Amino acid sequence: MRIAVIGTGYVGLVTGTCLADLGNETICVDIDEEKIQKLKKGILTIYEPGLEDLIHRNIEKKRISFTTDLADAIKRSDVIFIAVGTPPDKDGKADLSAVKSVAAEIGKNMNGYKIVINKSTVPVGSGDMVRSIIQDNLSFPCNFDVVSNPEFLREGSAIDDFMHPDRVVIGANDIKVAEKIAQIYSPLETEILITDVKSAEIIKYASNAFLAVKISFINEIANFCELVGASVEDVSKGMGLDKRIGQAFLKAGIGYGGSCFPKDTNALYETGLEVGYEFKIVRAAIDVNENKKIRFLEKVIKVIGTADAKNTKIAIWGLAFKPNTDDMREAPSIVIVNGLVNAGFKVSVYDPVSMEQAKKIFKETVSYVDLYESVKDASALLILTDWNEFKQTDLKYVKSLLKKPLIFDGRNLYNPEEMKKLGFIYYSIGRKDPDTI
Ligand code: NAD
Repeated sequence: MRIAVIGTGYVGLVTGTCLADLGNETICVDIDEEKIQKLKKGILTIYEPGLEDLIHRNIEKKRISFTTDLADAIKRSDVIFIAVGTPPDKDGKADLSAVKSVAAEIGKNMNGYKIVINKSTVPVGSGDMVRSIIQDNLSFPCNFDVVSNPEFLREGSAIDDFMHPDRVVIGANDIKVAEKIAQIYSPLETEILITDVKSAEIIKYASNAFLAVKISFINEIANFCELVGASVEDVSKGMGLDKRIGQAFLKAGIGYGGSCFPKDTNALYETGLEVGYEFKIVRAAIDVNENKKIRFLEKVIKVIGTADAKNTKIAIWGLAFKPNTDDMREAPSIVIVNGLVNAGFKVSVYDPVSMEQAKKIFKETVSYVDLYESVKDASALLILTDWNEFKQTDLKYVKSLLKKPLIFDGRNLYNPEEMKKLGFIYYSIGRKDPDTI
């Protein structure tokens, strides 16, 4: 099949590359000229393990191409995936302006029957909206179908998630159309669930909201464990061994971030309000998550004190919202680093791959240094992302560099007993705070 994937961000680039690898002739389109020029040369525009090799292989086999010419890509394709961003607008709703503009272009450039697939995460009813925009922009009568095919890949393991998904959801109001799209995914050994368009749209939001609820739930249990001196890790293990609950997403931390959970929970909440329904559980998950970052920040500030903030250096390890990605959208590190800067501290940051992203966000307000340089003469080290690199550091050396052996670990990377033996004052999540302070 000749496929166009519109939007070559985290989802579009992975989707386009994987579809090419499955043998389809794939055209990846973006409005970002610089991005397309780099991709044409095989230079990656995002950090995603395994993606570079896959792109090079498919460029060599001439199965994938990159362009900014949307009209031409539409005309040359049988199937068009919309994979543009749907960021939050000022009210927390999904901003559908990119989806709408692409739908209008599709309408204008239709030259025969095509299937248009919404892969972007879009609120229920967006399939109908895309259909009517295309219809309104057709320059001559033309048949087409609009399908919902939400994406569930995770940054950091996106290729594996795409190639080995737990399920593929196809929402179509005509079973024959759904079956055509199912053929694209037939090389993947997975369950293909065919639903109507609206149900497919809701599956994506409901799944992300449920996972966010799970994270916020264990984060509340962690708050409670800290107050009563229990271990959230033992609690979550004990809960997760129950097959009805499961271990996944029961890791306490400083809250979820990224481009999906925060925006999708808010968008679901807002979509509910639009039809007169308040999602109370989703609201609570959002509030607990916001509070988690603030709670961590407040604890750090309370322990260190602000009296001599301008002469106090704080080291930050980890800026990405999770390991194996450079994505910093809605990362808890943003709230925490900005909070420390605003309180007057000197902040030195290090992340294995997010430093370029970080510079765009924090600009001149922090120093960008390497792993060990960050802790030199620092009064505390904060760990905000659970990169493997941090699990394997020479902690004795770290202690020798720090001005004070104080660690706030937002990801529970280390064993509190061992940290005590090494002489650290070690704060972590959902465990009793050190007696020393
Ligand atoms: P992204 O911001 O990384 O990429 C979006 C791309 O679309 C950008 O390259 C942008 O330049 C391009 N674009 C914007 N307007 C365009 C237009 N008019 N024509 C062509 N290109 C245009 O976003 P993303 O993370 O890939 O997310 C895309 C969608 O997939 C969102 O709806 C998101 O919620 C959803 N999603 C994301 C993930 C994830 O982990 N990132 C997972 C599942 C679903």
